[in-house]
Amino acid sequence: MSVTPEQQAEIDVQRTSPQNTLRAVSEGMERHLYSAIPILDHGFVRVVDYMGNDAAICQAARVSYGKGTKSVQNDEGLIRYLMRHWHSTPFEMCEIKLHVKLPVFVARQWIRHRTANVNEYSARYSILDREFYIPAREALAAQSEVNNQGRGELLSDEAAMQVLEILKGDAARCYDNYEQMISADGKEGLARELARMNLPANIYTQWYWKVDLHNLLHFLRLRADAHAQYEIRVYADAICKVVADWVPFAYKAFEDYRMGAVTMSAQMMSCLRRMLVGEEVTKENSGMSVREWREFEEVLAG
Ligand SMILES: Cc1cc2nc3c(=O)[nH]c(=O)nc-3n(C[C@H](O)[C@H](O)[C@H](O)COP(=O)(O)OP(=O)(O)OC[C@H]3O[C@@H](n4cnc5c(N)ncnc54)[C@H](O)[C@@H]3O)c2cc1C
Repeated sequence: MSVTPEQQAEIDVQRTSPQNTLRAVSEGMERHLYSAIPILDHGFVRVVDYMGNDAAICQAARVSYGKGTKSVQNDEGLIRYLMRHWHSTPFEMCEIKLHVKLPVFVARQWIRHRTANVNEYSARYSILDREFYIPAREALAAQSEVNNQGRGELLSDEAAMQVLEILKGDAARCYDNYEQMISADGKEGLARELARMNLPANIYTQWYWKVDLHNLLHFLRLRADAHAQYEIRVYADAICKVVADWVPFAYKAFEDYRMGAVTMSAQMMSCLRRMLVGEEVTKENSGMSVREWREFEEVLAG
């Protein structure tokens, strides 16, 4: 379960208390505000607050006194121009604050994105919940043979059952020991800040994560990519949907000029030009390494 009935009740109360405001709002984002989007077996993402909308990006780009909007078409064109030409600061004028519940090993990848503000649940102060990420059967795959950082074929049923048993057993045993160590039970227990050290990396943690739109899009470019680890990608995919509703013009430009775009090296461009004039270009005469040639072929295959 991603949120308890009590937590859902708090969210419902927040969602039924609208306020009038002079600030720019995004209708699409208002629909998401406060609600938890379930991710994995116990995780979620929910928007706690946001600032700005598509018009705010144009307002900043034009350094305008009023709304900054000229016409819808004009705004969309401007946003697409800004995205295409890496004029990124107007996108930094929009911000989002998320509440995320995620396994610790996912948090470790996520926290590498330094251009955000983070406040994590304190396991020195509070007791962690007995909630561990146990992958679904279809996420249990073997080590990839072509990519050292990825997964290959699905495990057999027998191997998958064994893995699940190990994961569940380890989680239960470690949490029992954690509880036993901190248990006051009339006697003095170990400090929470120390007892947590035997907990595995699939235990869930939570944080508030605030980031501007420019850096969020950078995060999404890397983590919603097909090469990103599945367990962080599902969070990024959910955030992509939120961003598409929040700033539809900016998100469309991001899809076209970042997610759907490719970067070609000078060698790749040279090979492409040779191909366009009918020359037969091969791995051997391309001047590229084996790996770069493979990536080039992937780009051409689409
Ligand atoms: C597929 C994949 C595999 C990865 N594998 C590994 C791995 O094996 N080991 C590992 O350690 N990490 C790994 N990473 C993490 C990666 O190296 C980056 O740390 C992470 O993606 C954050 O990117 P970032 O620094 O661009 O983002 P942010 O920290 O959000 O920074 C955004 C941008 O701000 C600028 N910036 C921020 N801080 C600084 C600074 N101090 N100095 C200069 N410029 C700065 C840079 O331009 C940066 O691109 C991996 C990431 C991906 C997506």
